[in-house]
Amino acid sequence: MAKQLDKFKNVLSHAKEYGYVFQSSEIYEGLSAVYDYAQNGVELKKNIREYWWKAMVQMNENIVGLDSAIFMHPKVWKASGHVDAFNDPLIDNKDSKKRYRADVLIEDYVAKLDAKIEKEVKKATKRFGDAFDKAEFLATNGRVIGYKEKGAAILKRMGQSLEKEDLADVKALIEELEIACPLSGSKNWTDVKQFNLMFGTKLGASAESAMDLYLRPETAQGIFVNFLNVQKSGRMKIPFGIAQTGKAFRNEIVARQFIFRMREFEQMEMQFFIKPGTQKEWYEHWKEARMKWHMSLGMGEDNYRFHDHDKLAHYADAAADIEFRFPFGFKELEGIHSRTDFDLKAHEEHSGKKLQYFDHEENKSYVPYVLETSIGLDRMFLAVFSNSLQEEELENGTTRTVLKLPAVLAPTKAAILPLVKKDGLPEIARKILEDLQWDFNVAYDEKDAVGRRYRRADANGTPFCITVDHDTLEDNMVTIRHRDTMEQQRVKISELKDIIAQEVSFKKWLAKM
Ligand code: ATP
Repeated sequence: MAKQLDKFKNVLSHAKEYGYVFQSSEIYEGLSAVYDYAQNGVELKKNIREYWWKAMVQMNENIVGLDSAIFMHPKVWKASGHVDAFNDPLIDNKDSKKRYRADVLIEDYVAKLDAKIEKEVKKATKRFGDAFDKAEFLATNGRVIGYKEKGAAILKRMGQSLEKEDLADVKALIEELEIACPLSGSKNWTDVKQFNLMFGTKLGASAESAMDLYLRPETAQGIFVNFLNVQKSGRMKIPFGIAQTGKAFRNEIVARQFIFRMREFEQMEMQFFIKPGTQKEWYEHWKEARMKWHMSLGMGEDNYRFHDHDKLAHYADAAADIEFRFPFGFKELEGIHSRTDFDLKAHEEHSGKKLQYFDHEENKSYVPYVLETSIGLDRMFLAVFSNSLQEEELENGTTRTVLKLPAVLAPTKAAILPLVKKDGLPEIARKILEDLQWDFNVAYDEKDAVGRRYRRADANGTPFCITVDHDTLEDNMVTIRHRDTMEQQRVKISELKDIIAQEVSFKKWLAKM
């Protein structure tokens, strides 16, 4: 655990030091759970967004994009259920006066049981060596089974109590498990209360005529209210999808863990409209397709898992999360939800307008069912960034810090380095830069010894360094160094563009899907 915390601390300081993420309004002591993306962060974020957009919109004939407004008519949020049910159960510790999400306290308790299981696995791996069969161990070891059953029972009870709005039982569970306030160690808790997460604001100049609005807590509703507009204007046939990326706002109670849980964040959502009755197959389809998208980035199969929901949201008939191994454990990265016809029907009711599709094959109209895939762009950023940040021991006994970002996502694709600041080398390096910058984000760096410049590029996540030396004057060749392997190759200047393009192209990466 200590090592994991260290890792997380490194992630935070590296993100700041290398211009990826800054605390918002830092000179005024910062604003809690709000962050700014700096010169490198904005590029990484843009590339992740594009990687998603290409996979979802460009590569699917039947999915189109949308950019709906953040402000929406207040009735939207009544219809969607957010006014009445977008709540988190909160609990206060009377001694520390700290406020927590009751469900998160319980989930953290279960995560500790999971950590105990991992510890047992580690011990057994050591004891049995090559003969160790992990799957069999997990299925048969008494202690492991005990932890697993206990965790499952706790989550089930919590899910059922939340579903029934039995908040007294949620508190009882916290007391029975003897969960203490992480800050004070005290078990002196208030009752559990519901807290609505939407931010309110006002539209209009005078107090009397002002209209109460909400900042959208998800992008999905903008898609639902435009369903028919897009279907008609695009002559879309079911099944089809509408995708959008954009800001969402939630007044999160527990906003820690850096950009994992923010009050202003960005979502990438896709609503897929289908014939009622086909939701099971489409649910499986999108679960698999989304997992493949994650796998295509090569960040390690072991770092992902599905978590099927016991507690379903008011709109869903099936739901699963894709969880990622963040530095603080496995947590939700993306949700795949089978939303039935809940949203479109609710908007029909509240707006008085029909939101139906005429199916020519069936010769009848119906309200389509919906499958949703919903991923937080900032959470994906944290997954990529934290997984890529590595300390490597080198053969010569030194270490290097390297940010092994998938090359397709890296903010800067290549750094161009003249070996020395004279003899015409900077001029050639600048010419290479000017040529490559039509196609890629590239950087020029002539300060310090070349070894230090390599380290700087490694820590920045730049996949290639291109060094111009005295031989270049004779042979028009340069040295290209690969960040991950540190291998160096001598290549013609004229070949650079193709070499880089091959490694960073969306096709190369997305084709793995
Ligand atoms: P959680 O249980 O972690 O609060 P959620 O189930 O409420 O998340 P959804 O409403 O399903 O999340 O939102 C879809 C996705 O949006 C999540 O999988 C996550 O990646 C992202 N997301 C949700 N809330 C936040 C937040 N406060 N900060 C950053 N990303 C978020």
